[in-house]
Amino acid sequence: MASKRDYYNILEIERSASNDDIKRSYRRLARQYHPDVNREANAETKFKEINEAYKVLSDEQKRAAYDRYGHAAEGGFGTDFNGFGGISEIFEEFFGGVGGRTSRRGGPRRGADLRYDLNIEFVEAVSGVEKEIGIARDETCTRCSGSGAEPGTTSVTCNTCKGAGEVRRIQQSILGSFVNVSTCPTCRGEGETIPVSCIECAGKKLVRTTRMLTVKIPPGVDSGTQIRLTGEGQPGKQNGPSGNLYVVLNVKPHHFFRRKDNDVVVEIVINVAQAALGDTIEVPTLEAKETLDIPAGTQTGAIFRMRGKGIPYLQRNRRGDQLVIIQVNVPTRLTDEQREMFTELSKTLGREVIAQNEKGSFMDKLKNLFTL
Ligand SMILES: [Zn+2]
Ligand SMILES: [Zn+2]
Repeated sequence: MASKRDYYNILEIERSASNDDIKRSYRRLARQYHPDVNREANAETKFKEINEAYKVLSDEQKRAAYDRYGHAAEGGFGTDFNGFGGISEIFEEFFGGVGGRTSRRGGPRRGADLRYDLNIEFVEAVSGVEKEIGIARDETCTRCSGSGAEPGTTSVTCNTCKGAGEVRRIQQSILGSFVNVSTCPTCRGEGETIPVSCIECAGKKLVRTTRMLTVKIPPGVDSGTQIRLTGEGQPGKQNGPSGNLYVVLNVKPHHFFRRKDNDVVVEIVINVAQAALGDTIEVPTLEAKETLDIPAGTQTGAIFRMRGKGIPYLQRNRRGDQLVIIQVNVPTRLTDEQREMFTELSKTLGREVIAQNEKGSFMDKLKNLFTL
């Protein structure tokens, strides 16, 4: 510590220098001695010295203490240089990153996720299904075991970057010269090159393959449901883990079942006699035909609920219901006998008409069912 040079001397300024003087001088010297620019052996030491001096003199309190006690004040400064991350960080701190971001040699990186869109039938979504899918993705080349080098040969340290994975160039700007750090173009940041490429993958380390996978689709899925197959995405780089595969489902519409959340909706047409007198009818459900009692006096738009006949809830031992919407069919063609009977019937029913209020409206019932 005794051999330490005077901070003012280091920064080549007078003791009366203003803050601006200090800053200007520091910038000039820092650029001059930055070890990436200055190839002299002592440049790094010099650069650190300059930074240390600047740290103290640019801070009013530290400068005042230094003026009084000299380097003896050091202990109270907390200017331990090891607190800095390194040369490039110092450089970035003072020059706002003008020197260019360091693109460090890549460590393990996770592979990319893949997406696969899969169409399934309505009933498959309800009851679950297993599907075989072919996924085109990159896999580690088996011939070279992912090294990219033809078996019997090995990769060598990159000549351009000497294994660092990055190259530094001095760039001129209006502020002076700066160091521009970029990924090595020869080895693309890997630090090594392959003299004899694997003939299978051409040195790319990966080969495009179509892999058959079985996707287990649980009962109750809907359009937009995603199934994650962990680790079935693109392979990682530098021994990083593989990405995931996401199978995104699209459920094709059924020709008479419709889905509302976990309920299944089906529209059933009955005739006037069934509606007026009541009946026990057979209706299709997702699994089998089931009987349903239609009470006498059933109107078009009446909705019957068949409990537990709907769509399973994902990962729950529960199902929605089936909703049966009744539509009463008025015959368009009558036999002579039927015409006679309807005529007789009409005499008993009278000819009065009423305007339907919203409570009994068929349209409203349907609207409620699909917007609730
Ligand atoms: Zn290969
Ligand atoms: Zn290189």
